[in-house]
Amino acid sequence: MASGVEYLHVLIFECVGCSRPLAVIRVTGFRNLEPTDGEWFSLDCPCGWQKEVHGFEARRHWATEWWLSETALSMMLCEQLNLQFTNYLLTGDRSE
Ligand SMILES: [Zn+2]
Repeated sequence: MASGVEYLHVLIFECVGCSRPLAVIRVTGFRNLEPTDGEWFSLDCPCGWQKEVHGFEARRHWATEWWLSETALSMMLCEQLNLQFTNYLLTGDRSE
């Protein structure tokens, strides 16, 4: 089975409403942070606070090598595509 090393990006945002840490993970083919910094993320805190934020607004952002099976990779890419599609429906954002 084919598989490969991707880069797992972990972004920690802080809820403006309650200061709770909100973690987002993203798998990309890039180690550098800039492409993920430019992406939009939809934050939804249990306290009720919601916001669309850019990756660069994260309190912490790091990337690490992550080995993924082809199955996991295709599933995660599917989830990301669904998320982008949902964002598109919600915001009409055509930037991606
Ligand atoms: Zn909150």
